[in-house]
Amino acid sequence: MTNAAHSEIELSVVIPLYNEEGNLRPLHEALAAALPKTGRRFEIILVNDGSRDDTEEILAEIAAADPTVHPINLRRNFGQTAAIMAGLDHARGDVIVPLDGDLQNDPEDIPALLTKLEEGYDVVSGWRKDRQDDKGRSILSRVANRIISLISGVHLHDYGCTLKAYRREVIEGVRLYGEMHRFVPIYATWQGGRVTEIPVNHRPRTVGKSNYGFNRIFKVMFDLMVVQFLMRYDTKPIYVFGLVGTLSIVISFLGGLAALYLRFFEGTSLIQTPLPLLSALTFLTGVICILMGLMAELLVRVYYESQGKTTYLVKQVRKVPTADTTDAT
Ligand code: UDP
Ligand code: MG
Repeated sequence: MTNAAHSEIELSVVIPLYNEEGNLRPLHEALAAALPKTGRRFEIILVNDGSRDDTEEILAEIAAADPTVHPINLRRNFGQTAAIMAGLDHARGDVIVPLDGDLQNDPEDIPALLTKLEEGYDVVSGWRKDRQDDKGRSILSRVANRIISLISGVHLHDYGCTLKAYRREVIEGVRLYGEMHRFVPIYATWQGGRVTEIPVNHRPRTVGKSNYGFNRIFKVMFDLMVVQFLMRYDTKPIYVFGLVGTLSIVISFLGGLAALYLRFFEGTSLIQTPLPLLSALTFLTGVICILMGLMAELLVRVYYESQGKTTYLVKQVRKVPTADTTDAT
């Protein structure tokens, strides 16, 4: 089975690139060596995320010589997740494999990921078991992974590894924002997909420089909050806002009662206590929370109904043959 034999693509490899001119040719060589081993018709989608170096020119040269390579040049630098999203939108394969373009991920791992996927999984996530980044970062990432695993209930060792294999179905409806490409396994689980991981090779970056520092941890944590919220309360935001609002109002009443007690039984002057202020503030917060919940409910309806989306996902519908029922009468 040669790659050009059929036009249908079975595997799309998606790679975000920002100022990776020095890595492009070795990357292409590594892919050209590894991908035929999968035995699938593949395409390589290289997304140039507004690089300021010669990435665009080198990509054009590589693509001219290799018909499996499809460069996409973004207008400016949108960030890794957006670049991956652009690649996903253009990918045609039944299986999609994103990986980093700095050669930290090893294309030789792709066949193993696909073999694992064949066992009946929807996502196979790479686990950089022997991670080759500086110590501080590796430790921070380990802590972050623990937290994500605990909060999301989807147990993986390494969410941040870009190298993963997805079945097209699980990625199709997913829109990625911020740093969210790492949370696709959580989305997939949420949609009823089967998720697993295998250890993959990880190498130090030898050419170019990393685009991230420690501040990424904050972005990741906020994204986790959003994903978690969407996952649990996607269709019923009032449950969250309503609960917080009600709690706040309960605190307000307790504060009010305590104030009355102090005033009439202890004879304390209320000016001396923070209670009236506390009571008023928590009452206001409570009311605003509940109103925000109602507003969010409106947004949910607009979101689902304007796009004709359903609040469920169907795996399969078994059609009941109609002929039988007429025979029976
Ligand atoms: N990347 C990108 N746009 C950006 C930042 C990074 O497309 O704005 C790409 C980068 O070229 C690389 C991958 O995303 O292929 C991972 O980036 P990096 O190596 O800087 O991240 P790290 O490995 O340090 O987490
Ligand atoms: Mg890197």
